[in-house]
Amino acid sequence: MSDDYHLDTLAVRAGTQRSQFGEHSEALYLTSSFVFKTAAQAAARFANQEPGNIYSRFTNPTVTMMEERLAALEGAQCCVSTGSGMAAILSTVMGLLRSGDHIVCSAGVFGATVQLLGNVMKRFGVETTFVSGSALSGWEKALKPATRLLFLETPSNPLTEVYDVAALAGIAKKAGALLAVDNCFCTPALQRPLELGADIVIHSATKYLDGQGRVLGGAVLGRRDVIHEGVFGFLRTAGPTLSPFNAWVILKGLETLRIRMQNQSESALALARWLEQQPAVERVYYPGLASHPQHELAKKQQKGPGAIVSFDVKGGREGAWRVVDATKMLSITANLGDTRSTITHPASTTHGRISPEARAAAGIGEGLLRVAVGLEKVEDIEADLAQGLNP
Ligand SMILES: *Cc1c(COP(=O)(O)O)cnc(C)c1O
Repeated sequence: MSDDYHLDTLAVRAGTQRSQFGEHSEALYLTSSFVFKTAAQAAARFANQEPGNIYSRFTNPTVTMMEERLAALEGAQCCVSTGSGMAAILSTVMGLLRSGDHIVCSAGVFGATVQLLGNVMKRFGVETTFVSGSALSGWEKALKPATRLLFLETPSNPLTEVYDVAALAGIAKKAGALLAVDNCFCTPALQRPLELGADIVIHSATKYLDGQGRVLGGAVLGRRDVIHEGVFGFLRTAGPTLSPFNAWVILKGLETLRIRMQNQSESALALARWLEQQPAVERVYYPGLASHPQHELAKKQQKGPGAIVSFDVKGGREGAWRVVDATKMLSITANLGDTRSTITHPASTTHGRISPEARAAAGIGEGLLRVAVGLEKVEDIEADLAQGLNP
């Protein structure tokens, strides 16, 4: 489908492939393998001389439809989907790096990403330097001759730090490295990192792309020469594959992505402003607030501030847990990106497995709470939080 269409149109139409039955809603192809007409056709498919499906570890029409729709939304030449967001990050580093290579990664990334890059990949000879803060000088200082990848999330999880993607793309290019952006918090509805100069976009489709908290999934997007050779090659062999069922759920989730992101962002802004007024709240982290250190950058780089609001509550862990336990409506869960608002205490959950020093370096205190704002009426969310904030 032509890239000239607007994002809203691509979200409901891009990637659709109809079978001979002419179904309007995309079909779910639950099959592990595909049948060839002749031995010669089988050989041609395996040799990449004829396009077509072979085996669902690496080719499935429902999965392809999801990949093409997401690629259209991100403005990417190529998309490889994976069984989870972590599988997307694993496939990126396994597909593109080798022993001896070096990664520079923001300290403010998802806890499992810190584990994967800092511990697991280290066992295979890939070293990672974690950089605190979004100042460009820190990134430049961390570069080594072996640096092949710069990795970040913007806004970061959970402190919503905003990184200058265009500037970091320049630094990566000069260093001969690729820039990968985990676009989980914004999604292409609010931010398109490839347009800003990033080489790779990574998604946990588990979050906003599904958007309704149903399935796990992930994706890696970028130029064909980077993604197809390296990442698809790894996925085809190693199999961290997205299931057709999950692809179908995410494909339908993409149709409502922009209206969900817009609505949830508007509610998040209202909630952030309300939280700033609460005496029991020490600090609010939200790119849509004028008090956010990178508010101007966020306005330039993003179409909206996103739906994640984090805040420090007075009284450390005890104070934070009191707010969590006083809620009656919010879901106490580590997930985010759902239509239902969720509340998380990062220091004891999502970031509980990383060392206290690494947590402190990332600025994640004991009093920090993260709310992923859903589609409920924002006044109801405020009332639920008020019970623990103003008991
Ligand atoms: C959840 C998350 C991931 C990991 O995704 P899974 O689908 O849970 O494997 C990666 N990055 C960010 C920013 C996330 O929020």
